[in-house]
Amino acid sequence: SSCMINLLDDNYVLEDYQCVVPRWCVGCGDHGVLTAVQRLCRDEKLPPEKTVFVSGIGCSSRFPHYMSTYGFHGLHGRALPIAEGVKIKRPDLNVFVIMGDGDCCSIGTAHWIHAVRYNMNMTAIVLDNGIYGLTKNQASPTSQIGQISNTTPTGSRLEPLNPISVTLGISNASFVAQAADWMPDVTHDIIQQAFRHKGFSFVRILQRCPEFQAHRYDDWVRDPERMLLLKHDNGLHIGPELGRVYRNQELHDPSDRNRAREIASGHDPIPVGILYKNPNIPCYEELQVPDTMNTSEGVSDFLEAEFDKVT
Ligand code: SF4
Ligand code: MG
Repeated sequence: SSCMINLLDDNYVLEDYQCVVPRWCVGCGDHGVLTAVQRLCRDEKLPPEKTVFVSGIGCSSRFPHYMSTYGFHGLHGRALPIAEGVKIKRPDLNVFVIMGDGDCCSIGTAHWIHAVRYNMNMTAIVLDNGIYGLTKNQASPTSQIGQISNTTPTGSRLEPLNPISVTLGISNASFVAQAADWMPDVTHDIIQQAFRHKGFSFVRILQRCPEFQAHRYDDWVRDPERMLLLKHDNGLHIGPELGRVYRNQELHDPSDRNRAREIASGHDPIPVGILYKNPNIPCYEELQVPDTMNTSEGVSDFLEAEFDKVT
């Protein structure tokens, strides 16, 4: 099929966001997340021509190729500054950033920390499979202790970095959530809340990589009781059906950052939901600069005046 943009009406269907058939491995968790994101675009009626997906390098970074929207496949670790450039110039666009764990939490770490601090209005999704998949099996910052890989043949020795704990530690964090690729309804709901939040929404999605991390989440996939659903007002919509499947639930106030930090460090059961949300942090692209600074004359007048002050 080809990538056609529907400019005719806003009654979008899934096919309006679909493009070529994804080339991720069979059973890769990325497939389910792609579908959840396409459903979100349809449900939120996002015009494809007003929507941009930005990625870095990695398996998950193929994402923009599979969305029939605008997209930018950037350099390794550099998805965030590219997305910030798009947003500052075109604040009217819906901007999504898709990163992997290597992309975001290793080479892109500096951009990640500052993107949280700048709080631009965009949705950042980290597809965290705990391995470098595209380059065929090297340990990443989120690899588990003991994990065998090409770079850790006797097992990884470091405690993994926890992306949601780190994000919660940045004072300007405005939205932090965790989802799992094998829970499509929950993932869709979390991504929707992230999209509707005004500010920088950070969503870590635990992602299965059957190619290199075949059994990492088997116990959690098989036993829904080992997942902890976080519920809150206007938060995760747990219908009666989901309520029966995922019995382990906790009422959580997403303005409680201390409790969010405790929940974030939980490994078993694994928490999914919105850990933290603060709608009151201004977005960088909306911070006003004085009108006089919008022209080059204004800027040189300002600099001259400052120069006069110090000389
Ligand atoms: Fe997915 Fe792993 Fe295959 Fe990459 S290597 S496409 S992450 S299953
Ligand atoms: Mg990875």
